[in-house]
Amino acid sequence: MLLDTYGRIATDLRVSLTDRCNLRCTYCMPEEGLQWLAKPDLLTDDEIVRLIRIAVTDLGVTEVRFTGGEPLLRPGLVGIVERCAALEPRPRMSLTTNGIGLKRTAAALRAAGLDRVNVSLDTLRPEVFKTLTRRDRHHDVLDGMAAARDAGLTPVKVNAVLMPGLNEDEAPDLLAWAMEEGYELRFIEQMPLDAQHGWKRDGMITAGDILESLRTRFTLTPEGDGERGSAPAERWVVDGGPHTVGVIASVTRPFCRACDRTRLTADGQIRTCLFATEETDLRAALRADAPSPASDAAVAELWKKAMWGKKAGSGLDDPSFLQPDRPMSAIGG
Ligand code: SAM
Ligand code: SF4
Repeated sequence: MLLDTYGRIATDLRVSLTDRCNLRCTYCMPEEGLQWLAKPDLLTDDEIVRLIRIAVTDLGVTEVRFTGGEPLLRPGLVGIVERCAALEPRPRMSLTTNGIGLKRTAAALRAAGLDRVNVSLDTLRPEVFKTLTRRDRHHDVLDGMAAARDAGLTPVKVNAVLMPGLNEDEAPDLLAWAMEEGYELRFIEQMPLDAQHGWKRDGMITAGDILESLRTRFTLTPEGDGERGSAPAERWVVDGGPHTVGVIASVTRPFCRACDRTRLTADGQIRTCLFATEETDLRAALRADAPSPASDAAVAELWKKAMWGKKAGSGLDDPSFLQPDRPMSAIGG
C-alpha cells in the first residue's frame, strides 16, 4: 500500500489527463502564454491504464478521479474509463470537469462505467462567468450538468470558488439553486496555485466568510459528529435537511493530517500533494529501454518510495512557503 512516515495511507488517486483547457479561470490559468506539455511527453492511454492498474491491484487504491486541465478534452477518455472499470477490484471512478462537452459525452461515460462527476461552476450570472473564466460558455456548463444528472452520474457535485469583487456575494444564491436542481454544492477556498502567482492570503474569501454569508439565508448545522475524516469538505445540513453544503477550507483549515491522496500528472509524474515541490518520474521508468522498461513491481516500488517521502502538510502556513512551479491546471485539481 501507499504508506507515508506519518501513518497515512493513500487510497485516492487523482489522474490528470491533460494540462489543456477550454476555459481560462483567473484563479487557475493566465489569459494566454501558458506553455502546454508537449504531446510526446504526455502519457499514452495505455500507459495511464497500466499505472491505474498497478495502483488498484498492487497499491491499494480504491478511488480514481480523472481531472486536468479539462479531462473532457482527452480524446481517449471514454476508453480509459471503460478499461479501468474492468479492473479487479473495480475502483470507484469520478471526473472533475468544467462541464463543457458533458452534454455530448455524459451517457457514454456512464455506459463506460464512470460513477459520478464534479462540475465546476462559480456563478449563476453569465456575465460574471465570462469575466471569471474569460470565455462565454455559461450555458454549456449548465447543460452539461443537467446531462450528467439525467445520465445517472450522481450525485452531481458542484465545485465553486468565490473571488473577491466578482462572485463573493453569490454563496446563498448558488446554494438555493443547487438544492433546487438536486446538485451537491461545495465551496473551495482559493489556493495559491494560479499560473500568474497572483494569490494573496489577505484578499481571499475564507471558509468563515462563506459560512457567514450562507447563514444570512440558511440555518446550517454540522453533519454527523462534525468530524470530516479524510474528506476535505466539512459538510453542513441546510435548514434541517435533507440537503447539505460542503466547504473545503484548504487554506484556513487544512486537512493534511487525514490526507489519503496520491496524484499522477498528465506527463507521468507522481506528486504526493497539490503543493509538493518534488515529483517522481514514472514515465521515465515506463519508457526506459536500457536495460528494459520497468516491471509492474518496480513501478509500484517507485510509487511507494515517493509516497513514503510525503511531507506532513502543505506548508501554506510556513513563512518559507513556495508556490509549486506547476499551476493547478498542470497538476490536476
Ligand atoms: N477543468 C476541470 C474543472 O475546472 O473542474 C478540472 C480541473 S480544475 C484544476 C479542478 C478544480 O480545481 C476546479 O473545481 C477548480 O475550480 C479548482 N481550482 C482551480 N484553481 C484553483 C485554485 N487556485 N484554488 C482553488 N481551487 C482551484
Ligand atoms: Fe480550466 Fe478547470 Fe483551470 Fe478553469 S479551473 S481554467 S476549467 S482547468
